[in-house]
Amino acid sequence: MDLNLKDKVFLISGGAKGIGEAITMTIAAEGGIPVIIDPSETEGANLLKKLEASGGTALHICKRLTDSNTCKSVINESLSIFDRIDGVVNNAGVNDGVGLEDGSPEAFSQSIQKNLNHYYDLTHFALPHLIKSKGSIVNISSKTALTGQGSTSGYAAAKGAQLALTREWAVELLKYGIRVNAVIPAEVFTPLYQKWINTYDNPESKLKEIESRIPLGNRMTTAQEIADMVVFLLSARATHITGQHLFVDGGYTHLDRALNTLNP
Ligand code: NAP
Repeated sequence: MDLNLKDKVFLISGGAKGIGEAITMTIAAEGGIPVIIDPSETEGANLLKKLEASGGTALHICKRLTDSNTCKSVINESLSIFDRIDGVVNNAGVNDGVGLEDGSPEAFSQSIQKNLNHYYDLTHFALPHLIKSKGSIVNISSKTALTGQGSTSGYAAAKGAQLALTREWAVELLKYGIRVNAVIPAEVFTPLYQKWINTYDNPESKLKEIESRIPLGNRMTTAQEIADMVVFLLSARATHITGQHLFVDGGYTHLDRALNTLNP
């Protein structure tokens, strides 16, 4: 299936590690041009080398999206080199554990700033160019938006808002033919996940316990499985899909909790 991404330019926030890295690699494998927005200097440089060695074109903008000015400057930097934007993947985020009981209003606001504001800001500044290209937007949310996790109010609120914005933007941008969708991972082993699982006393047994509850295959979702859905949604093969929340989670969020897939 040709996804028709050749020479099209896609911005990926947090595109140097974890799920973002897989999205970057998959866009490049389809002939697209990934613009990686990520503060990870070494990982970004290595990824760029790998992509260029395989004949691809890419850009690494080594920045953390902290405020609207940074988002604006990132868009300008990308345009100064490629002069077009065909898609935005809002992916950067951190499950920073700002709870209700042990958090504070200030920490909550900061968490929203880290996890939500740049989804709006980056898309806002990219929009005139997405209108020109009839581009596409994918927001990476999280199952915590629907299930809760405990002790992570800022992250969960941001992830819920991303789902609301997906529908809101899908409606607002209908007139331009711009499609907006969300992909919802549950359990994907990435550097972020590693940090989170390490907060448990026995991370290995916690991981086994989680895997045993994932209905399809009793295993984590791979970053590649998330990337495949994202890249499909960005592509011209998904031209009648908009405003959708797509769960790529082996049935984790929705299937019957009474299932015992280890001993069926
Ligand atoms: P990850 O392993 O931490 O990778 C994320 C990358 O984004 C890192 O390189 C990180 O850099 C960068 N980043 C973080 N904040 C940024 C910002 N403001 N501007 C630019 N880059 C930034 O995370 P991941 O697990 O791949 O998660 C990616 C997305 O999937 C997130 O939105 C997350 O909420 C969502 N998700 C993941 C899972 C999972 O199981 N992994 C489950 C549900 C949802 P630093 O490391 O330097 O901060």
